[in-house]
Amino acid sequence: MAFQRIAVLGSTGSIGDSTLDVIARYPEYFGVFALSAFSRMDKLAAQAAATGAAVVVVPDEAAASRFRQAWQGRAALPEIRVGAQALADTAADAACDTVMAAIVGAAGLPSALAAAQAGKRVLLANKEALVAAGSLFMAAIRDSGAELLPIDSEHNAIFQCMPQRDRAQAPLAPAPGVRKLILTASGGPFRLRDPADLADITPDQACAHPNWSMGRKISVDSATMLNKGLEVIEAHWLFAMPADRIDVLIHPQSVVHSMVEYDDGSVLAQMGQPDMRTPISYGLGFPRRLDAGVSPLDLAKWGRLEFETPDLQRFPCLGLAYAALRSGQAACVALNAANEIAVAGFLEGRLPYTWIPRVIEAALEWQAGRPSVTLDRLTDVLDLDAEIRTYAGNLGLA
Ligand code: NAD
Ligand code: MG
Repeated sequence: MAFQRIAVLGSTGSIGDSTLDVIARYPEYFGVFALSAFSRMDKLAAQAAATGAAVVVVPDEAAASRFRQAWQGRAALPEIRVGAQALADTAADAACDTVMAAIVGAAGLPSALAAAQAGKRVLLANKEALVAAGSLFMAAIRDSGAELLPIDSEHNAIFQCMPQRDRAQAPLAPAPGVRKLILTASGGPFRLRDPADLADITPDQACAHPNWSMGRKISVDSATMLNKGLEVIEAHWLFAMPADRIDVLIHPQSVVHSMVEYDDGSVLAQMGQPDMRTPISYGLGFPRRLDAGVSPLDLAKWGRLEFETPDLQRFPCLGLAYAALRSGQAACVALNAANEIAVAGFLEGRLPYTWIPRVIEAALEWQAGRPSVTLDRLTDVLDLDAEIRTYAGNLGLA
């Protein structure tokens, strides 16, 4: 395997931690070129010191000075790059081969797209980039000859269950012989709770995911199941699949990470522990398998795996995401932006949990009533994203 110089964007987050864990196991294959973080400069400095990163990217001068302070007493300060443009430039830097796109939210879109345009191996954890700008992103992968490895566990599972291929490419049509994609979902912490009993949910309750340990935004998305909705849209772009050939199945144990159904009736599933080091190591090593430090799956210990159809009354966000996908890209931008505003409002204690779908629905309706816009360029997407955020923020709800 050729040596890869890697930029880990969003290195201080949950995916960032797991990525650095896998990288550290294989110094002969992987070196860290750059790390980035939005806050927690102490942690970023510790990561940069441990990995020997040449570059760190931080959001502003205040963060840069906190980073310098946190670095004190260590040797050779890394190059500090500042701002959103520096993030995109680092993703496209000639000194790097592989980019882990692990920033949360639409804030991760410009750097993920820059990596795609520059023809890198792109390990895509940031699903919001595909939701907001799927056609732009996939076209960039195709035009530049970049390699795209999905890191989201469901999409990584589907990728593994797809017909064999030599390279990770961006398909233009569904793979031959594939009838359906089946995304599994844990159902989150409120799967069995009376929907009438959700009004007083606190952020800590919503973030207490039964099986996965993740950042707070995606944890709330998992509780509302908007996360699965974003993943349906993500699967649509990654595998060129129409909405009516992507199903969601609740599977509380999170052992089967997703499935592919073929025309002959075969269903291939990928299973494993709920540990993101499995998909991350698959992406880093592809096509080679690496020991990621994940403990073996003991099916006898599980004994029983359960599956059920999701209840769209209980999880209105899932239905809203399907509606957005069927409606088009502008609706998907609205879905994602309104959700980011609503979830931030909920996490900051300004918005009740049950209002998250209401904010999203209002934004989708507002978007549908506007004159249609073209979304051919990144700036078009970012402009619409900003407008929706303003609208959602001014609703008086958030
Ligand atoms: P996290 O909140 O733990 O980490 C987010 C990272 O992004 C941090 O390093 C943070 O400093 C950085 N960041 C935050 N806002 C930023 C901004 N405005 N500009 C630049 N950097 C910013 O999130 P996470 O759980 O690691 O998730 C990261 C992405 O991966 C998300 O898109 C999420 O949906 C996706 N994902 C995560 C998991 C998981 O298990 N955590 C699984 C599948 C997909
Ligand atoms: Mg997922």
